[in-house]
Amino acid sequence: MVDGHIHIERGPYTLDWINQFVQKAVEMQLDEIRLLEHNYRFEEFVPMYDSVCAYSAYVKEWFKKQGGVKKLSDYLELIKKVRAEHFPVKIKFGLEICYFKEYEALTAELTKDKGFDFLLGSIHFVDDFAFDHKPEHWVGVDVDKIYRRYFEDSVSLAESRIFDGIGHPDSIKLFGHKPSFKLTEYYERLAEALAAGNMYTDQNSGAYRRCAGTASLGMDEELLRILKKHNVRIITSSDAHRPEDVGYKIKELNDCILNCHI
Ligand SMILES: [Zn+2]
Ligand SMILES: [Zn+2]
Repeated sequence: MVDGHIHIERGPYTLDWINQFVQKAVEMQLDEIRLLEHNYRFEEFVPMYDSVCAYSAYVKEWFKKQGGVKKLSDYLELIKKVRAEHFPVKIKFGLEICYFKEYEALTAELTKDKGFDFLLGSIHFVDDFAFDHKPEHWVGVDVDKIYRRYFEDSVSLAESRIFDGIGHPDSIKLFGHKPSFKLTEYYERLAEALAAGNMYTDQNSGAYRRCAGTASLGMDEELLRILKKHNVRIITSSDAHRPEDVGYKIKELNDCILNCHI
């Protein structure tokens, strides 16, 4: 079993900190863990967030605390140190990168030849709207419009060919908002673009852990079915932000994939 999306951001860049994730992975009987950092933690990526910070005072405050607090070179040093050691589970290192169409070139430039095992592209902002922070931010939002933009951007992300995978591909549903139209066509377009780029999708339990009342576990069943039909690879993940959550519902996420028939 694999946990393909684990954030190490809440601790120092030490072998001891990495070991805490490994210990939990062993306890959860995982074979592989994929550790990552949000790209916005690194000062190099800060310019990508000018527009979302200008759009929202809330995001501006959040970014002041979370954004640009680390250097990419320090993360690369840690990766080198970990690769020189032996661990009882396979460890891969990558980045979870916010996708902004206008920053495709910068993203490609900053991540080129850095030796990452994987790059995961995720939609966290739609037309500058940080949709997954708080449900109250959705008051007055045009749900249909945001859904359309979310999936248009997801298709662009897949077509950009910058990333190896797409993170939590329907996290827009996090707080239980639903569009008035069927998403089948978007699911088909997304699956086609992912298959064409040989990209994987993240079957992620993070939204469920945060919002069990409004978010189903993993992807919507129809999306899962369409991805399987197009032979898109699916990697289970917890989106853990601390060692305790490593492996969260990975078995159940695998069951969802196995039990979903085309
Ligand atoms: Zn994410
Ligand atoms: Zn994440």
